[in-house]
Amino acid sequence: MGRVNATYNPYDNVLRVVENAAAILGYKEDEYSTLKYPERELKVSIPVAMDNGGIQVFEGFRVQHSTTRGPAKGGVRFHPAVSHDEVKALAAWMTFKCAVVNIPYGGGKGGIICDPRTLSERELHSLTSKYTAAIAPLIGPEQDIPAPDVGTNARVMAWMMDTYGMLKGHTVLSVVTGKPLGLGGIKGRGEATGRGVMITAQNILKKMNRQIAGTTVAVQGMGNVGSVTARLLHEIGMKVVAVSDVSGGVYDPDGLDIPEILAYLSQTRNALLCDYRTDSLIHLTNAELLTLDVTMLVPAALENQINGDNADQIRAEVVLEAANGPTTLQADEILEKRGIRLVPDILANAGGVVVSYFEWVQNIQELCWTEEQVNTELRNIMDVAFDEVWESAEANGKTLRMGAYLIAVKRVVEARLGRGIF
Ligand code: NAD
Repeated sequence: MGRVNATYNPYDNVLRVVENAAAILGYKEDEYSTLKYPERELKVSIPVAMDNGGIQVFEGFRVQHSTTRGPAKGGVRFHPAVSHDEVKALAAWMTFKCAVVNIPYGGGKGGIICDPRTLSERELHSLTSKYTAAIAPLIGPEQDIPAPDVGTNARVMAWMMDTYGMLKGHTVLSVVTGKPLGLGGIKGRGEATGRGVMITAQNILKKMNRQIAGTTVAVQGMGNVGSVTARLLHEIGMKVVAVSDVSGGVYDPDGLDIPEILAYLSQTRNALLCDYRTDSLIHLTNAELLTLDVTMLVPAALENQINGDNADQIRAEVVLEAANGPTTLQADEILEKRGIRLVPDILANAGGVVVSYFEWVQNIQELCWTEEQVNTELRNIMDVAFDEVWESAEANGKTLRMGAYLIAVKRVVEARLGRGIF
């Protein structure tokens, strides 16, 4: 599966989209050039005493792309393919995502090159705590607020909050979001990104005058985002015909039993779909899943999944980007020419950061929202953002991705110009 390679650099991808948007908006280089450079980048080495008695040194990053509109905000990724350029790109996408949904944050991201599936709980805890201590000078409720991403979860956020609090001498709930419910977490955060994807799926189908019933869906990735997305789309009546994880996918043209698959995956920590067997299922590769003949394709795993090599084989009518950066620029152009509608990541998967924002506000104000309040406010924000992006794309005769970037780049540049150069 292609990630960062000689021909694909996710940060270059972001820069080209930003440059295109700035040109359409008529900005001079001086007005938007700050957007091309991350404000702060930290690389850390993290020694961990392993269970086998040896020491392993891991490499980690924290990048703050922008704090122009508010503190940096963005997840922490634990994955073997993490790289500096990937973290830079992910941080930049956060800047534009927060701007599209108009919440008062900039963008940041972090990551450690590791495979969490091969680490014991104790090793993972130690790695997380040491990483948090190493990036502690950069993070904080008013500076930079981490959250879960690929390979991390509420448990990891609890460890990060604990370590930060130990260093400060008191508990600081608002330093990370996506925490467990009993530790300052907010109801609905666990499923917020998937819920936002579901709301966006409803919105795009409505614009296309399509019914929910009869819509077929393939979801790549069954982690936090993919599993909730698959469950919610199934619950509202779509036919989820294929899902996958790192080991490959399962396919049933008559529709999968999503609750049963989720129950199977939650049985053990490292359960994989390649080991899931029932009579009616067809097993397929991730590459095959992407080219299935479905109404909606939801990439919810990693970057660079739909690219110049396979974009002309995509048969979905709509690509809904639940992952960050799953489609390259080259693929964007091919999909556009082929009339395939794409809803961009900075809109489609923004539900997570929106509810993270609610969690941060809740922690700072020492309030407690009900799940209904969270979901209602989430829908309000996602609906407004969707309509704004749709109108921006229509008004400019551009794709939904460019429609979203025209809004986001304008908001960040105007904030920068309003503040002036210090
Ligand atoms: P996760 O770690 O919970 O799940 C990742 C999924 O991708 C797993 O099913 C894993 O098996 C699969 N996967 C990993 N490597 C793969 C590979 N090489 N090929 C195919 N599948 C692979 O991660 P997540 O939190 O669900 O994040 C998924 C995507 O959504 C990422 O792009 C992330 O940046 C983005 N995202 C996450 C959130 C969030 O709140 N967690 C919010 C916004 C965007």
